Amino acid sequence: EDERRTSLPRPLNTTEPHANSRGYDLRDPLTMGSLFHARDNWRTHQWNFGAGVDISNPARPDEVVGSVAFADAAQTQAAIGRAAPWAEDAATRAATLTRAADGLEMAAPELLALLAREAGKTAEDAIAELREAADFLRYYATFASDADQPLGTVAAIAPWNFPLAIFVGEVAGPLAAGNAVIAKPAETTPLIAMRATQILHEAGVPDTALQCMPGEGTTVGAALTSDPRIDGVVFTGSTATAMAIHQNVARHLAPEAPLVAETGGINAMIVDSTALPEQAVRDVLASSFQSAGQRCSALRVLFVQSDIYDPFVRLLKDAMAELRMGDPWNLSTDVGPVIDDRARQGLQAYIAQHDPLYQLDIPDEGLFVPPTLIEVERYEDVTREVFGPVLHVTSFDAEDIPSIITAVNARDYSLTFGLHTRIDGRVEETKRLLRVGNIYINRNQIGAVVGVQPFGGSALSGTGPKAGGPGYVERFTRQAVRRDAV
Ligand code: GLU
Repeated sequence: EDERRTSLPRPLNTTEPHANSRGYDLRDPLTMGSLFHARDNWRTHQWNFGAGVDISNPARPDEVVGSVAFADAAQTQAAIGRAAPWAEDAATRAATLTRAADGLEMAAPELLALLAREAGKTAEDAIAELREAADFLRYYATFASDADQPLGTVAAIAPWNFPLAIFVGEVAGPLAAGNAVIAKPAETTPLIAMRATQILHEAGVPDTALQCMPGEGTTVGAALTSDPRIDGVVFTGSTATAMAIHQNVARHLAPEAPLVAETGGINAMIVDSTALPEQAVRDVLASSFQSAGQRCSALRVLFVQSDIYDPFVRLLKDAMAELRMGDPWNLSTDVGPVIDDRARQGLQAYIAQHDPLYQLDIPDEGLFVPPTLIEVERYEDVTREVFGPVLHVTSFDAEDIPSIITAVNARDYSLTFGLHTRIDGRVEETKRLLRVGNIYINRNQIGAVVGVQPFGGSALSGTGPKAGGPGYVERFTRQAVRRDAV
């Protein structure tokens, strides 16, 4: 067997914040200096990629961050015509993608500013996201191979909740395999995608191998996914959109050509009465409210064992009361805004239908939704993924655990699952019986690390292969198609 599939060439993926070969350490004061330099000088950056659509700051909706020209269907079709697979050898592709990772890190001040201004990311989230984007490039570069033949042209449709990391990851996987990629960023976050694309081009990715087409899903997305010249699609977003894309591609894509989709989930966590309450509370807060709950990995339904339920919920409410909401630039901010007014209104309407156990106050200005705790009776009472800072909580007795696992498995709609317990047998039993993408024991359930914790689910939560895992790049090659066929 080819050894590059089983071993990583260097320990680039640790759970520590990333430091690259130049020693540019995202924990150090220089980085923080960059962050604040970016904050103070962001207006001097030109993030204008043509006239057309103004992108505003979700924390201050009156503030325009930059502008971009949205592509239409004809321009998208022209881009498909121009696309040409990346014909250079694997070593050159790998070196180029690795250089692009360095390029992203060198552009840290600007990219952190864009993550905060365009996507409402807190400093902590923005730094983690920049690191993840660089990790995707370096990790997928190690899977470039001359033995594999690329598919041709791949459409990469990226989400707004990780507008840099997932955009770059979806582009880097097919590029490492030598494909041409046409990337469509989310409507709300095109600026950072355009900037990342420039950095990839500056590193040496040919502009026929990578084209970024900002625009609407109904124009650019539809034009891409319904075009017979597209040989594969990679998508991250809602399950409903994945299904619509699936229908589009089914009409023209060869049956074995890939649709790689990572979608949503109604993710649960169990906290039993042997758990360490302070640690569990801290991990619940991070899992539910970090990134304002706008992660598909986020915790949505918390099960607390009945004999600790009341004191645990009290502790949780007290901890929620300490969360700071506000301008993502302030280092003390824990929870930033949600992405746009439509998201805010949808979440508010959902909260209004319930009688929250607890809710924080929100700032007067900006698109904020309060971290909210809602009590439910059963897992099934949460009927859809609520994509924001809303946590449902319910109690259970020890003998209920098998039925909780059955309920989660039956739904087939989970990316992550958390378990807080000090009973080893319970850990083993849960791991054995549960069918979810990623299980996290005695820690938070967000922030999968590239290469160490490949991320993704199955059924309604996605197709696989997992992002940041060893099977990803190969999925965009003919090799994978042949192997799957035997
Ligand atoms: N990979 C991210 C995490 O582990 C989630 C990705 C997403 O929300 O799409 O938190």
